[in-house]
Amino acid sequence: MVQGFGDDFKELVRSSTNLVDLVSETVSLKPIHGGRDFVGLCPFHDDKNPSFHVYPDRQTYRCWVCDQGGDCFRWVMEMEKVPFPEAMESLARRARLEIPKHKRDDATSENGHRKTDSLAVVEWAVNLMHQALRAGPKADNARQYVKTRKLSEDTVRNFRLGYHPEDWNWFLEQARGRFTPAQLVAAGLIQERNNGPGYFDNLVGRLVFPIIDERGRPVAFGGRVLPGGNIESDAKYWNSLESAIFHKRRTLYAFDRARET
Ligand SMILES: [Zn+2]
Repeated sequence: MVQGFGDDFKELVRSSTNLVDLVSETVSLKPIHGGRDFVGLCPFHDDKNPSFHVYPDRQTYRCWVCDQGGDCFRWVMEMEKVPFPEAMESLARRARLEIPKHKRDDATSENGHRKTDSLAVVEWAVNLMHQALRAGPKADNARQYVKTRKLSEDTVRNFRLGYHPEDWNWFLEQARGRFTPAQLVAAGLIQERNNGPGYFDNLVGRLVFPIIDERGRPVAFGGRVLPGGNIESDAKYWNSLESAIFHKRRTLYAFDRARET
């Protein structure tokens, strides 16, 4: 097994793969009438009505019944029951790309892949919450709080402050077809429910401060409960738990500066 693919090679493989063609090798897909997307019978559950969708624009797939979803790598991992490096190799061969020789970097190990995934998930969440604060429909009390605390436009932009709307499944909904619940858990965005199946979001109803690492990458979050919101919490501030990418001792709390403003 060849290991040590970098992110660049991963993206090269992704962009050299047409997900519709790939999925069509297993599932008979039809274009959805009047749209660009494709639909077929889901290979992951006993499907009678086509509920399995492939989105060429995003190069992702998702079943709206059993909730399986992901990109080309996830597809091969699920269909061939192989770990990520083998899925990558398989797709690289399929795209006739030369597979890089052994190269040791921090994406070599299983842990490395988790790290790479979590960084991408956190980056995605930072943007999502930043947009929600700046222009989201249900963020008036968050914007009001920002004004009251005299946090400037520049501060909001530079620290990429964000807001999580009062919706306990917002991350999960927004991530569909892009990240799996397991990836969201690993990145500290959601948690499994204690009393029953399913998940709930962290940071609900909070003003969110990204926590960045020594290389300037967001790796975790701090969130503050807002006055005037509907979320009851004993903890005025909430910080992400430690994860593959977030080590409290080694991480800068850039948002402390914003908080003191
Ligand atoms: Zn399904």
